[in-house]
Amino acid sequence: MKQSIVKCPGCGLMLPNQYFAEPSRFHASGECMELFNQLSYYTTSHGQPEFIHQLALDAYGAQHSGGITRSITTAFSLIGLYLVVEHGFTGKQVQQAHMELGRKKITWPELTPPPTSAAITIQEVLQAEAGESRDAMIHQWVHEVWNSWSHAHSWVKEAAQPVLHAE
Ligand SMILES: [Zn+2]
Repeated sequence: MKQSIVKCPGCGLMLPNQYFAEPSRFHASGECMELFNQLSYYTTSHGQPEFIHQLALDAYGAQHSGGITRSITTAFSLIGLYLVVEHGFTGKQVQQAHMELGRKKITWPELTPPPTSAAITIQEVLQAEAGESRDAMIHQWVHEVWNSWSHAHSWVKEAAQPVLHAE
């Protein structure tokens, strides 16, 4: 019998259907979300002060926007990617920037995801060997996802201004 395949609405990843429920936080298939959960075991037990988990979370969040994803999740993910790519922030610094922005009462706009998703997906990240290669792949993923959102770059740069002035 032919194996049923499910396509992730966020990153386009085709995975064997395991009939997982769709996540409530991201525009993703349950099967893709399961891979993110696997990566989270790795990134949260990483034990490095730079907190690489934040990078993975923001790359995943931006790549799985639209649908049920809240506008604040998309905005925060993109701001996180921008701070890492263009200002060399660590995950820890991004986390602090998010907290700072969260204290401001801002209405976040509905940003439209790019028509073509970034070429790197969570699958490539998990396939990279744990340690240096996987961490490098996470950084590459962050860059690719950030580049795929070029239509929103000027908005993101503007929105990130308050946390850059505060440095
Ligand atoms: Zn996906």
